[in-house]
Amino acid sequence: MASRVCLVHYHEIGLKGKNRKTFEDQLVANLRLALRSLQVSSVRRISGHIMVTFSSPEAPFEAVGLIRQVPGVARVSLAFRCLQDPDDYLPAAVEALGEVGGCGSFKVQAKRSNTDYPLHTIELNRQIGSALCEAFPDRSVDVHDPDVEVRALFNEGSAFIYAASERGVGGLPVGTAGKCVSLFSNGFDSPVATWMMGRRGATMVPVHFSGRPMTSDGSEWLCQDLVRALGPEGAVGRLYVVPFGQCQRDIALVVPQSLRILMYRRLMYAVAERIALVEGAKALVTGESLGQVASQTLDNIRATSEVVTAMPVLRPLIGSDKQEIIERAKAIGTYDISSQTAPDCCTLFMPRRPETHAKPAQVAEAWGLFDHDAMVEGLLRTVEYVDFDTCGAYRPPARWRERHDALAPAPLPDEG
Ligand code: ATP
Ligand code: MG
Repeated sequence: MASRVCLVHYHEIGLKGKNRKTFEDQLVANLRLALRSLQVSSVRRISGHIMVTFSSPEAPFEAVGLIRQVPGVARVSLAFRCLQDPDDYLPAAVEALGEVGGCGSFKVQAKRSNTDYPLHTIELNRQIGSALCEAFPDRSVDVHDPDVEVRALFNEGSAFIYAASERGVGGLPVGTAGKCVSLFSNGFDSPVATWMMGRRGATMVPVHFSGRPMTSDGSEWLCQDLVRALGPEGAVGRLYVVPFGQCQRDIALVVPQSLRILMYRRLMYAVAERIALVEGAKALVTGESLGQVASQTLDNIRATSEVVTAMPVLRPLIGSDKQEIIERAKAIGTYDISSQTAPDCCTLFMPRRPETHAKPAQVAEAWGLFDHDAMVEGLLRTVEYVDFDTCGAYRPPARWRERHDALAPAPLPDEG
């Protein structure tokens, strides 16, 4: 009797040569975590795929939507797992094609991953194809450009039959590319940038600068909601929050209006870099996109990047248009949360006419008007964090506790 399983397909991992096993093991672990709310019996590798089995009949249908959001997944198929017996797999093939509905032509593609089954793939294609032609007289076979492919995979004593298949997000399993600290506002861009780097396998550590104590903590709650929305991706294990309002006020008192934003940004970058060093992260990530706002001209990007010396600043959205970013935000589920407004440090002490092309000498002079080193140290003493259980690859730094726990206030409570 056939049961339903999810077959997970991955492309890029296959290219990784000797690292392949590490990548596959990480993907298995990430899938287990992403599916923990469902009744999963097992997640394991079978040649070239990962098979997920379930203990409830509805679970495989619910799982497809979650699996496709996990980085490293190229496709996920809702397969029938059958005996290697035509009485079992032929009716399953009929059901599989029937589920796809509305298609005119089809093609059967069988594959044997070992030779323990006596029928050759060509014979299997014919056998399954003729059963389908008989069951669906109104559909035709088209081997070159079919509407649907019915796949039959003979593997480890089972026959896996599927036609319904959904595209995954692609990329690489989170935990295979090292850690990045992302500068995380509650706008549209930085959550998308964070998601993109997570999709490339990075474990993401967002840092949010809030306007507290000059504003409420509304932006911090929105950031927590954003991290939860990114949950199925499994890239974020911890969110840092830095109350930044007092420093902004102090800067606003001494720095000319037009250069304030740049000074805020430089201070943010400097603090984020220090957190990254404690975390063992190898890069900073921002949601900047060239020319989108005053602080994102090439001159100003250069002026802010200058303070980061120990690692690169990556900007995955630098060449994206706002519309593309918005579409991505909708697709990954952050759009509605980012549409809500809460005062954060970006709305605080903002100049009416920010400098769009800051000269290096001006920037250096403004940077010298306040004790930025002392501010960085002071901010590091007030860093707070919230942990999330959605990222299996995240390892908190032991050093952080040693260096800052005695000084830092209690971590923000988790909403749940
Ligand atoms: P976003 O949509 O990500 O808020 P933005 O279009 O509002 O970006 P800016 O306000 O210039 O652009 O911010 C540029 C980048 O600086 C952001 O993408 C983010 O990486 C970082 N950033 C801005 N504000 C904050 C903040 N409050 N906390 C942490 N990082 C921030
Ligand atoms: Mg913003």
